[in-house]
Formats: sequence, C-alpha cells, structure tokens
Amino acid sequence: MPSIRKTCRAWEFLILYASDTLASVMTNITKSAFGLTFVLTTLCALILLTVARSQNQQPKPSGNPFGAAPQMSQAQQEDFPPHLLDELAAIKTAALGDDYAYRQVAHLTENIGPRPSGSPQAKAAVDYVAAELRKLGLEVQLEEVKVPHWVRGAETAELVEYSGQAAGTSQKIVLTALGGSTATPAEGIVADVVVVNDFDELKALGRDKVAGKIVLFNEIFDKQKSAAGLAFMAYGEAVRYRGAGPKAAADLGAVAALVRSVGDADFRLPHTGWSSPAGIPAGAVTAEDAELIADLAAQGRVRMHLTLTPQKLPDATGYNVIGDLKGSEHPEQVVVVSGHLDSWDLGTGAIDDGAGVVIAMEAAEVLQKLQLRPKRTLRVIAWMDEETGGSGSKTYTQDHASEFANHVAAIESDAGAAHPLGFDLKMTPQAAELLQPVVGVLQSFGTTALQSSPYPPGADIAAMSEAGVPALGIMQDSRTYFHYHHSAADTLDKIVPGELRENAAAMAVMGYALASMRNPLPR
Ligand SMILES: [Zn+2]
Repeated sequence: MPSIRKTCRAWEFLILYASDTLASVMTNITKSAFGLTFVLTTLCALILLTVARSQNQQPKPSGNPFGAAPQMSQAQQEDFPPHLLDELAAIKTAALGDDYAYRQVAHLTENIGPRPSGSPQAKAAVDYVAAELRKLGLEVQLEEVKVPHWVRGAETAELVEYSGQAAGTSQKIVLTALGGSTATPAEGIVADVVVVNDFDELKALGRDKVAGKIVLFNEIFDKQKSAAGLAFMAYGEAVRYRGAGPKAAADLGAVAALVRSVGDADFRLPHTGWSSPAGIPAGAVTAEDAELIADLAAQGRVRMHLTLTPQKLPDATGYNVIGDLKGSEHPEQVVVVSGHLDSWDLGTGAIDDGAGVVIAMEAAEVLQKLQLRPKRTLRVIAWMDEETGGSGSKTYTQDHASEFANHVAAIESDAGAAHPLGFDLKMTPQAAELLQPVVGVLQSFGTTALQSSPYPPGADIAAMSEAGVPALGIMQDSRTYFHYHHSAADTLDKIVPGELRENAAAMAVMGYALASMRNPLPR
C-alpha cells in the first residue's frame, strides 16, 4: 500500500511540475495537465480503495502483522496486570540507558583476562563477581566445585615433507591444542598425515592406514548456514569432529589427531574447545591450514613435525557464584538468570561468556536501582566450568535438585553479545504463550521471537530443564559469533555496547516478569 501511494504522489508531482513549466506558453495544455492530474489522482484513490477492499475480504491473519498491540488472552491479562507491564517497561528503559553490564565485562576481560577453569583468573573473577553482587545488596554464596585444571604449553607444527617442497624449507602450520589434549615429547613428534573428511572415511581407512599417523579431520564449517542465521546448526554439524574425532583416531592407533577449526572466519585463526579425552595429542589447525594439508596430501606424502606440550594438573577448586535478590512474597520460588564465568584461554572470554554473566548481574542491578522487589527470588548465577566438563552445573544439580520443583524458570545467555532476536524456549506451548506480553514490552528494539526448542537452551541449565524447569536462552544474532568463538579474537572490542544493553534489557525484563507474574509458569 505505501508504495502505491508514493507512486501516485510522484505522478502528481511530475505532472504539476510539467504543467508549471509549460504554463507561460501553453495555457490550454496546462489546463489539460491539471485535468490529467485530477484523473490520475482519482485513479490512485480508486486503486487504493480496491486494494483496501480486497485486503478486507481476505481472511485476517492471526498475530499483529501491522505492529498493533495484540489482544492479550484472559490468562495473560491475569498474569500481567497493567502495573506489572508498567514496571517491565520501566526496567527496559532503565537497562537501555545503563552501562553497568559493559563496565563489568570490561573489568572481567581486560583487568582479569581469560578465565579457564582452575586458573588464578577464574578465582579472581569469582571473587570480583561475588563482591559486586554483594555491593548490589544480594545474598551471595560461593558453591564449591571440583574443576579440571589443564594448562596450555608450546604449540607449533610444520610440514617437513610434501610434494614440490623447495630444498631446505618447511611450511609453518597454525594450530592450537584442544582442551584436555595430552602432550607430545618436548621435541615433538614427526609422522605422516592422513586426511579424512568424515568418520566414514576414517573407518574405511582402518587401523592399517591410520596407526602411527597423525589424522586430520577436514570437516568444513558451513559458512552459508551461519550467514543465513543458522550458525548453531553449522556449529553442531562440525563440532562432532572436535568432540569425538581424536578419540576415534586414537582407537585406530593414530599418534595424534587434528581437526579443522570449528569456526567461520577467514583470518587463519585456530579455535580451541573441549574434546573427549583421547589419550593422544589433539589440536585444531586453522581452516586455511586444513585446506593446505588436504591439497598437499592429495598430491603425495605429507609429514608433519608436531609439538604440543599442555599439562593436565590435579583437579582444582572452583566456585559457582550465586546471588539472590529475595522474593517479597515467595522467596522459596526461584528464577535463575545466568551465564558462565569460565572461558577459554586464547582470548579474554568477552562474548563467551563474560557477556552472559554481566547481563545477569545487570538484571539485579536495574531492579535495585528502580527499587523493584520481585515476588519470587531472582537468582543470579555465574557458572563455573561450562567449557571443560560442566562441573559447575553438575554440582548445582546435586546440591539443589530437591528444590527444582520450586525453580520457576531458568534463563542462560551463552550465545554472545550481539543483538537479541528473542528467546529459545524449552517449555510447554501453554507456558510459552503466556510470555507473549513480555516480548510485547521488548518489541521496540526487535526482541520478539519466542521459539520453542527441542533441546535445553543452555548447557548449564540443561539438567534443570530436563527435570522439568521451564528454560529460556537469549537468542542472539549469531551471524558473526563463530568468527571469534574459542579463538584469540574473543575480546572486549567484539561487544557492541548498545547491543549489550539490549541483552541486559531482555534478561532483566524477562527475569522480572517470570519472578513477578501472578502464577508460576505452568510445567
Ligand atoms: Zn559458552
């Protein structure tokens, strides 16, 4: 409709312009031009009327395609009375004007730095977040967690034999060790490289062709999927090789295993990550180096000198940080807002997942600033050890499983800091429908999606979700997330302050809504 209207105005303008120009010399033509204007205007009006009528005759789609506020159902009206909707709007406005979350993530990433499980930085981050939550007036506990402690060592590789090699040269390969990798001797190992594209190809080679070699899994991350907004689908397809590839290679006698980095940028960046213990050195080469090795291996023998010297130290003590803003009416009922505080060691853990922790912190900060007390307890959790085994989540489940009946809902943000599109939900359709008024509050900046997910939308809240607790994950725009994920480029500059504020608003508004709606979400 607007385009038809514009077109009509353009015709009128052109005709009027033409008639003005000609008026001084051709009065008669001017008259007819105005006449034509009149005819065209009438025609436009008729077209508009016809279009409007034909649209009226079509069945009305449900929802609100023209942005009008949808009618709330009776259940929604009961759960979200006008005063609560006003409070949610005030929380949104406050969060969108608040730089608390950004200041916190700047401290976590730049002052404290990378926070791998068992590291002094992880402990410093625990103490920092606990102190900040106490400053906000929350009741804070540290929940002790046994965490793996693995530290990175030297990591170098070079091709020492390949087709067309110039005498006296080698080719540097850019790689990083995968979490949990065992070490080569300090001087490294030299072995032939065998390249496979998938598990079937590995199986087809069999022990004869794999034993004593370095296996490279050249599984390609589907960049078109991420560009189209399906980055987590692409990640899921590729990450199987990082998770299970080294063990599959070790089972056939390989002396080391490499995977193509699970990421979608083009800057020769290796991406680390967790891998199932395989008992052999395991690393990730950059996508560019995987291509190089695959091309050379197709031409003949490729031998690699590989040095990886990480160390597995005895398990260490870590902590989940738990901060409660006690509910005014039902303090025993809990809504969890959370992110994970540990990170990988290559970058500084800004988008994975400093961002998730600080927006959960800001949810409490905004409520305190506005002096809004939720009916139920809002529990901020900064999880420990999401990246290397999930012991923080497991410990919480052991310690609190008997309270899960009173855990009304759990939110985790662990997909970056980019613009939030909405929420992934693992709950009944009836519960999801009740949350429509909440995204009604957030729609002014485009956080509108309520998408039901077959999987728990967050690793740390998965056990709660499986126990029946309604679970939500903030659904960030993921198109650039895997450019940086688990790489040295996961740094503060990747967080856009305005987008972080939108995430904080989404977390705070949804957290308060779940904690203050009249009835707990149905299960
Ligand atoms: Zn994460």
